[in-house]
Amino acid sequence: MLTAIVGTNWGDEGKGRMVDLLSRDYDVVVRYQGGNNAGHTVINEKGTFILNLLPSGIVREGTVNVMGAGMVIDLEHLCGEIKKLTDKGIDITPQQLVISDRATICMPYHKMMDILEEDRLKDKKFGSTRRGIGPVYADKYMKKTIRMGALLNQEGLREHLADLVEWKNLTVTGGYQHEAVSVDAMMEWLDTYGTPLLPYIKDTTVYLNEAVKQNKSIMFEAQLGALRDIDYGIYPYTSSSYTLAAYAPLGAGIPAASLDRVIGIMKAYSSCVGEGPFVCELFGEEGEALRQAGGEYGAATGRPRRVGGFDVVASRYGASVQGAKEIALTKLDVLSYLDKIPVCVAYELDGKTITDFPETGVQLKAKPVYEYVEGWHCDISGCRRFEDLPKAAQDYVNMIEKAVGCRITYVSVGAERESIIIRS
Ligand code: GDP
Ligand code: MG
Repeated sequence: MLTAIVGTNWGDEGKGRMVDLLSRDYDVVVRYQGGNNAGHTVINEKGTFILNLLPSGIVREGTVNVMGAGMVIDLEHLCGEIKKLTDKGIDITPQQLVISDRATICMPYHKMMDILEEDRLKDKKFGSTRRGIGPVYADKYMKKTIRMGALLNQEGLREHLADLVEWKNLTVTGGYQHEAVSVDAMMEWLDTYGTPLLPYIKDTTVYLNEAVKQNKSIMFEAQLGALRDIDYGIYPYTSSSYTLAAYAPLGAGIPAASLDRVIGIMKAYSSCVGEGPFVCELFGEEGEALRQAGGEYGAATGRPRRVGGFDVVASRYGASVQGAKEIALTKLDVLSYLDKIPVCVAYELDGKTITDFPETGVQLKAKPVYEYVEGWHCDISGCRRFEDLPKAAQDYVNMIEKAVGCRITYVSVGAERESIIIRS
């Protein structure tokens, strides 16, 4: 069974939580894109973990976690993340973690470029996480990056790095008037943070093909959501990678494999980090109350997230580009405080009603059309069967199911692993 777990919206839908729950049925969990701009929260009997680079199956014994070819890896950050787990008594062996030799290294100067550019943009900034993700993907497509495999065989590495740094400094010193990047410092960084990672670096394509042959079950874990996909999201307020399920086999390292199952993770309301259009956004007291109730502060950055009611237009589009046949609806419990629940049923622009998710330019000008549905106004976090939910909560789930045209097979009513309703 090859399953992709993907976000249908702007990210932070609760993917980490669902991967942690579902990974019990999988032998392998693979992250296939992005870098440490993700923040996946996993809460279980071992504690609370915020994972940026490591796949969310890492805290489950017996699961092999793969960091795929499509990822960009800040070595220093990864060493820090591994250390945080070891400090909590979770050892990470090369049997548990495998890093693709084709994955790209995100260098300190990528992070620096990200910061320099966001600062230069001032109020026109994109809302980057400033972790170098855009610059490193740009360099990857320029074919001017170092891949993980180069750490295993360092012959010629220094010369290659010196060429890259020379090219990079044209922009750093010439363009941004910043102090030049030093080859020595970069070599030292590669050595300090690359050496501890050596035992984990392998040809993951060979490993994963073998796993497929042996009929192992593989879960592909996406970072961010459909609306952050570089091509199909709210460009240019997107990430720089492909967040869609279609990319999962490619980014993982088994391009010829096809998915058996795509589970779209969808939140019972909306949130969005950073800049860009977010038509359903709620402001003032209404927004603040929802942000508080949902604890909507970025897991990776701590930034307050923008919030809104459930967005039918965006969610239906997100589920469709993901090719999701089923949905896990998360954070339904968060809405329990509301008498009337806001639902954004359409967008409006120049007197026209829009129901198909439009291009970014249109979204920037569109206004939400809100309707209010009945709340349930009681604690639902203890419910474990769909029938246990109050009628209004059941109606809300059924309304979303109908609106997005996908079966909702899981309803999450709390952050903990077991706070879940599974529908057959
Ligand atoms: P991800 O990026 O998609 O993995 O999501 P994040 O971890 O960034 O954000 C989701 C947040 O909601 C985390 O703090 C989770 O612990 C929490 N969470 C996930 N599912 C639920 C749920 O059903 N109810 C509540 N109350 N919190 C949840
Ligand atoms: Mg997140």
